[in-house]
Amino acid sequence: MIPHLNLQAVNEPYLAALQEAASRVLASGWYVLGREVEAFENRFAAYCGTKHAIGVGNGLDAIHLIFKAFDFPEGSEIIIPANTYIATILPITALNLVPVWVEPDPQTYNLSARNIEPLITEKTRAIVAVHLYGRCCDMAPIQALARQYGLKIIEDAAQAHGATYQNRKAGNLSDAAAFSFYPTKNLGAIGDAGAVVTNDDALAQQIRLLRNYGSDQKYIHQLPGLNSRLDELQAAFLSAKLPSLDADNRRRQTIAARYLTEIQHPGLMLPPKDAIFEDVWHLFVVRHPQRDAFMTYLHQKHIGTAVHYPLAPHQQDAYTEYNHLNLPLTEQLHREVLSLPLNTTLRDADVDTIVKTINEAPL
Ligand SMILES: *Cc1c(COP(=O)(O)O)cnc(C)c1O
Repeated sequence: MIPHLNLQAVNEPYLAALQEAASRVLASGWYVLGREVEAFENRFAAYCGTKHAIGVGNGLDAIHLIFKAFDFPEGSEIIIPANTYIATILPITALNLVPVWVEPDPQTYNLSARNIEPLITEKTRAIVAVHLYGRCCDMAPIQALARQYGLKIIEDAAQAHGATYQNRKAGNLSDAAAFSFYPTKNLGAIGDAGAVVTNDDALAQQIRLLRNYGSDQKYIHQLPGLNSRLDELQAAFLSAKLPSLDADNRRRQTIAARYLTEIQHPGLMLPPKDAIFEDVWHLFVVRHPQRDAFMTYLHQKHIGTAVHYPLAPHQQDAYTEYNHLNLPLTEQLHREVLSLPLNTTLRDADVDTIVKTINEAPL
């Protein structure tokens, strides 16, 4: 069996470094917001090319904290891609902001400026650019729109650690960006973790307060904040893994390049080939009109796959008030997408097997 993802195997090469990091934190006697967090924040900001990185509890909270810090008036409209993971949208509705759902670009499945512009109104305050599957949105036209209409841009970079767009890293293409270090992400912790990165000094300061009960001095509270701190152990684990992120992403790109040239199957739609070495291939997502049957075939041939995602956010029971929306391309994608195995543990022979099995698929 070639699994879709085996996290034990993903972390195997880091075992000694992770154990060393754990021992260091245990011995320090300091477990929340300390030297390890500060060191990781400095390393991750330097990696992204941003002035600030603020470690937080998870990716959802990173998005939530950005919106809390911007403090848009209730009822403000926030432009979001309809084709995303629900975490992009939950903080918006939780803060009584109004999500405005945009259909994806038919080639990249990401947000495109062309689909955004007709939806901008007087109430629009921000655009959330989700770099889905590891590929950056085409940001230049989105940045131009934001300038023209005075809107903020927030990146959801939870799937795009190290991805680039015009030689700039994901996270450094907007006013503020959210990262998740959930264990399956390209840079994954050994548990939940996240970060906000930004070049905005005031926003960074606000988020530092908000993640820690609105406080930067013990028992003195300037704001009604949350508790969403990155802990020392996760920060130490992330510092141990960050130096290998680029090499890991290159391995992903090499596998993606092989899939893109070697998979030849008339029923299957592959991702676009134009950004192989900018995309960090968090997921390699193909489309098939009979997705479930194709998935069953691969499983019978001992190839694990996954679906990201089976049901669009606006179709979920969590969002009954949006169930009536008509977003045909988004809904079609959710019926047709399938994620092939693509991770750092795949050997060349595994890629051979996957390509051959797909090319011989009867449907
Ligand atoms: C993983 C993910 C998140 C949420 O991150 P968590 O750390 O699980 O809260 C948000 N947005 C996208 C696009 C994601 O893939």
